[in-house]
Amino acid sequence: MFNVEHFVKIFSQSGICCKQNYSLKDKNTYKTGGEARLAIFPDSAEKVKMAVDVILSEGVDYSVLGAGSNLLISDDGYEGILISTECLKGISVSGNLITCYAGERVCDFLKQALYNSLGGVEFLNGIPASIGGVVAMNAGCFGKNVGDYVSYVVASSGIYSFADCEFGYRTSRFKAQKDVVISVCFNLENVEYDQSESKSEYFLKLRKNKQPKGRSCGSVFKNDGYYAGKVIEGCNLKGFRLGSARVSERHANFILADQNAKSADISRLIRHIKQTVKEKSGIVLQEEIEYLGKFKDEDYT
Ligand SMILES: Cc1cc2nc3c(=O)[nH]c(=O)nc-3n(C[C@H](O)[C@H](O)[C@H](O)COP(=O)(O)OP(=O)(O)OC[C@H]3O[C@@H](n4cnc5c(N)ncnc54)[C@H](O)[C@@H]3O)c2cc1C
Repeated sequence: MFNVEHFVKIFSQSGICCKQNYSLKDKNTYKTGGEARLAIFPDSAEKVKMAVDVILSEGVDYSVLGAGSNLLISDDGYEGILISTECLKGISVSGNLITCYAGERVCDFLKQALYNSLGGVEFLNGIPASIGGVVAMNAGCFGKNVGDYVSYVVASSGIYSFADCEFGYRTSRFKAQKDVVISVCFNLENVEYDQSESKSEYFLKLRKNKQPKGRSCGSVFKNDGYYAGKVIEGCNLKGFRLGSARVSERHANFILADQNAKSADISRLIRHIKQTVKEKSGIVLQEEIEYLGKFKDEDYT
């Protein structure tokens, strides 16, 4: 257990906003989970770097929070220091390059791109994420990945050109090394405004047709040489419910949470799906969703 007051003092002296016992329920798309013992909100690159330096030198556990659209947060909360990117704001455009701070939402980035007749990234329309989150996760869909449009990334440990970002399937060096993405410079294509707008609407429609409404984190499992949704459906798990969580009837790779759901129910359901799929098909599903905080053995996969 780290000394919260000690860190609040250091961060506050550097002008970093700190919140103790910070409720995370409204900070993730499942709307579940407990509190972070200490959450910090740096609003500049310098403050992020300073915070990470202090945390690393003192050996305290930390994690990064974007829009919480790929996170299952423990009902018991998170005991480490949570670095929220929500105050890292700003978008600027120069020619084909758009530089976007990590805390900007994907929808605002897309609006700016469209306004400047820049495109290629329309497939992201409808993902309720932060720019830092989509780049750290190398988010993608419809056969495209956001990493392919990155020119360079400013992170807490340095500046990385595309080749050094180590983008892979739903991963990057930033996710793998808990390196905080501060801002991202995207290299986009020149497009006609109207064409880009209809492409964006087309992708949104595709998403709405395929994906269920409700509280989710998108796909729970990776598609690893198979479509996890099809595999789960093949095991007759569509609509299967455990407590306040259920497998979507529309898309079996989505778990939907009820109002006032518990993360423990979602993690139990994830474990049940994994066990059933393994028994029935021999496939070992891998989570795309990430866990924050501790889950009891019987809840955790
Ligand atoms: C309705 C819905 C649809 C979705 N559709 C898709 C889809 O089509 N394709 C897809 O790939 N995903 C999809 N997702 C999942 C999710 O949006 C992505 O994984 C997204 O990249 C997560 O971004 P976030 O800002 O919410 O990150 P968070 O959920 O907050 O964090 C996810 C991970 O990224 C890390 N992280 C976040 N910000 C940073 C940062 N600045 N620096 C370093 N690490 C960081 C976190 O520590 C964590 O490890 C969907 C989710 C929902 C709810």
